Amino acid sequence: NLRILLKARPQGRPGPEHFQRAEEPRPAPQQGEVLVRHRFLSLDPYMRGRMSDAPSYAAPVALGAVMEGECVGEVVESRHPGFTAGDWVRGARGWQQWSAAHGSTLVKLPRQVGVSPSAYLGVLGMPGTTAWIGTTEILQPRPGECFVVSAASGAVGGVAGQIAKHMGARVVGIAGGAEKCRFVTGERGFDACVDHRGDLATALDEACPSGIDCYFENVGGAVQAAVFPRLREFGRIAFCGMVAEYNQIPAPPGPNLMALVRKRLRLQGFLVNDHPRAWKQWGETGATLLRDGRLRFREDVVQGLENAPEAFAGLLEGRNFGKLVVAL
Ligand code: NDP
Repeated sequence: NLRILLKARPQGRPGPEHFQRAEEPRPAPQQGEVLVRHRFLSLDPYMRGRMSDAPSYAAPVALGAVMEGECVGEVVESRHPGFTAGDWVRGARGWQQWSAAHGSTLVKLPRQVGVSPSAYLGVLGMPGTTAWIGTTEILQPRPGECFVVSAASGAVGGVAGQIAKHMGARVVGIAGGAEKCRFVTGERGFDACVDHRGDLATALDEACPSGIDCYFENVGGAVQAAVFPRLREFGRIAFCGMVAEYNQIPAPPGPNLMALVRKRLRLQGFLVNDHPRAWKQWGETGATLLRDGRLRFREDVVQGLENAPEAFAGLLEGRNFGKLVVAL
C-alpha cells in the first residue's frame, strides 16, 4: 500500500520535497470496516491549506501523516452490513492506494448515472456542490444579469457558469490562456471568456459593457482587483476561494479577504436612503429608548456658523467628540 505522507510545511510553492513515500502492507478491515481499493484521488486547492499550520477552519495534516484527500474506490472486502464487495464508494481516505475505513465514513456511489466514478470527486462531488451553493444560494443570478466566474475552466468554475446559464444569466468566464477560453465558450457554452494573462481590464469592459452583477470568486489577486471596480450596484460576490494567493507567504498586504471564506463572513454594503421604512421605525423606537433612559447620546456643539468650516475639517481628523452640530 503506497502512501504519500506530509514531510515538511512549504513556505511558498509546494513541491516533491515536502512529501515522502511510504510502503506499508495492505490494511486488514476490522469489524464494521470496509477494505477499499482506491481508484481515484482528488487533488484540490484546499490541500495547500492543510499543508500549513496557519490558523484555518480545518486542522492541518500532521507532519509524517498521510496527506488528506477524497478518494473513490472499489470495495474489496466488507465487514460492514451496508457494503458488499464490488460496491463503489467515496470517502476522505487520503493519498494512499488502499484503506480500511469504517462504513460510516463512506458514501456508496450510485451506478446508474453512466459517468466515470471519478465524477464523484468533481462535477458530482465537492467542487460541483460548491458551484451549486455559491450560484443558487449566494449569487442567485436573475435572467439577463451578467455573471462572471474566475477559474472558469476548472472544477468549480466550469460548473458554476453552467448553472448560472441554466438560470438565464449572461455568463462570462475568466481563464488563463486562449485554449482554456476557447474551451469555456465552446464546450462549456459560456457567452464569453476573457484571458487573465492579457489586458484583463479592457477585456472585461468589452465582455461586460454594463458591468458585473454576480461574481463567483475563485482566484483573488489581480483578477479580483480587475473585477471589483466593474461590479454594479446591488451586485453580489460569492467568496469561494482565492487560489492565486495560497502560495503567498506572507499574505499580500491589506485586509485578506480569504477570511470571508475561512470564517464564512457576510459582507454587505448599504445606503441609509434606500430604507425609508427604517427611518420611521427607528424614529419611534429610538425615541422610546431615549425617553426610558436606555439610549444615550453625546453632542459636540460648535457655536456659530462661521466656525463650521474649521469644525468640519476637524471631523475628518477626529477632533470632534460625539455628534458634531453647529449652533447657529
Ligand atoms: P480549479 O480546477 O479551478 O483549478 C485551479 C485553477 O485556478 C487553475 O486551473 C487556474 O485556472 C486558476 N489559478 C491558479 N493560480 C492562479 C493565479 N495565480 N491567477 C489566476 N488564476 C489562477 O480548482 P477548483 O475548481 O477545485 O477550485 C477553485 C476555487 O474554489 C479555489 O479557490 C478553491 O480553493 C475554491 N474552493 C472552495 C470551496 C469552498 O467550500 N469554499 C470548495 C472547493 C473549492 P486558470 O488557468 O484559468 O487561471
